[in-house]
Amino acid sequence: MITLSFDNSYSRLPEEWYQRITPQPLKGAHLISFNPSVAQLIDLDPCTVDPAVLVRSFSEAEALPGAAPLAMKYAGHQFGFYNPDLGDGRGLLLGEVVNRRGERWDLHLKGAGRTAYSRFGDGRAVLRSSIREYLAGEAMAGLGIPTTRALCLIGSEQYTQRNGMEPCAMLVRVTPCHIRFGHFEYFYYTRQHDELKRLADYAIERYYPACQEAEQPYLAFFNAVLEKSAELVALWQCYGFVHGVLNTDNMSILGETFDYGPYTFMDWYEPDHVANKNDDEGRYAFSRQPEIVLWNMTALAQSLLPLIERAALERALLRFNKRYRYYQLKRMRARLGLQAEREEDAVLVADLLAVAVEHRLDLNRLLRALSDYQDIAPDGCELASRLEICALPPTLSSWLERYRVRAQQEVASAPIRRQQMRAVNPRYLLRNYMAEEVIREAHGGNYEPLNALLPLLRKPSEEHAGMERYAGTPPDWAGAICLTCSS
Ligand code: AMP
Ligand code: MG
Repeated sequence: MITLSFDNSYSRLPEEWYQRITPQPLKGAHLISFNPSVAQLIDLDPCTVDPAVLVRSFSEAEALPGAAPLAMKYAGHQFGFYNPDLGDGRGLLLGEVVNRRGERWDLHLKGAGRTAYSRFGDGRAVLRSSIREYLAGEAMAGLGIPTTRALCLIGSEQYTQRNGMEPCAMLVRVTPCHIRFGHFEYFYYTRQHDELKRLADYAIERYYPACQEAEQPYLAFFNAVLEKSAELVALWQCYGFVHGVLNTDNMSILGETFDYGPYTFMDWYEPDHVANKNDDEGRYAFSRQPEIVLWNMTALAQSLLPLIERAALERALLRFNKRYRYYQLKRMRARLGLQAEREEDAVLVADLLAVAVEHRLDLNRLLRALSDYQDIAPDGCELASRLEICALPPTLSSWLERYRVRAQQEVASAPIRRQQMRAVNPRYLLRNYMAEEVIREAHGGNYEPLNALLPLLRKPSEEHAGMERYAGTPPDWAGAICLTCSS
């Protein structure tokens, strides 16, 4: 039996906020992958866990003493339109574990069967999308980008219809927060203002306790969410990450990357890149993400109108772009090894991005290459061979010359700068083709490649013997990978 220290604060909130329901086990459930670093977050000793017990405990909550499984009600804007009928349609909050350090972690079982909010869905998640979410959590954590993660991935012998018949799976998601922007929207649009206030009080007490001391706690809360969301999207933009489905029900109030679907780390820098083939209008294209996160912040602001004065919310929203640019420049400076803050840096960064767009360069590989050289910037031939291109485009050469001059103004020695740069410029990134490869193997019952990828994603800046091919150019077939909402 698995013993965890549960204390389920959400299940003490009003019964109307959720449906109490237990998971429906999957036929032939078995452990595919277990995440020791997440286990430690909830004081679960990775050395003594029995896989069979683990699977039973998490996929059949009766076997998990202290859990109080429930499906949360929420709503949200999907592709710009309000949908009142959302909620945990295929996932359950199993409960909250308080670890020895006093940290509180939500355990959420994704793919647990139908709930009151399933609408026409089957309540299941398929192996393909569960693997992608599992990998993404580790990749994001490896990059230092806020994210949910997963404790384990559970496979099954049960199939459901998606892209043809696909195997079902379950994922135990672990994060402090499952409250979405859509939770607030639900109470606002159903005019339950007392409940709205109660939710805000709960969120402040649990996630933003410092706001309680502020003159206007609800406004301070909104500002704190805005700050975290601006930082999050800035980090996505720095690494070429496209979320794919930035609906308000996929936005965590804690500013973590949340609800992974058809996401992509772009193989080359392409502002118009749309990760999700169902997104016909390109609403969630890469370059639009900052504006969309601001749009989502506006939706959250709207739903907080009963608690915060309109003018104050409007003023707060006006700060978003500035905060986004601040975080974006901060990380890009770090990636370029520039510690001093010079005014011309913003233009240097913007020009680099423009060169990357013009020549369809892989910004991540380019920046990693700049981190690996002895000199302050490599010569053209070295860099071209590293990027597997015939010759450096002249615009990149002249940019490199400017960069060389700028980098010479830094106080830190070149070796120190390069060491710092490597920490934020990964050698490896989770490319779509890597996920596709391990999914294909997993469908054939081979989970080794999936598990072999995890150490690389967790420490993407380090060398990983035998995995070097993942640091190179993606194979030609990668361009044909088609991702949709289907999960
Ligand atoms: P998602 O696209 O995963 O962010 O989900 C959007 C909404 O649809 C949420 O309310 C989900 O709970 C619900 N949903 C997605 N897939 C399913 C499914 N297979 N069965 C039931 N509900 C689902
Ligand atoms: Mg979602």
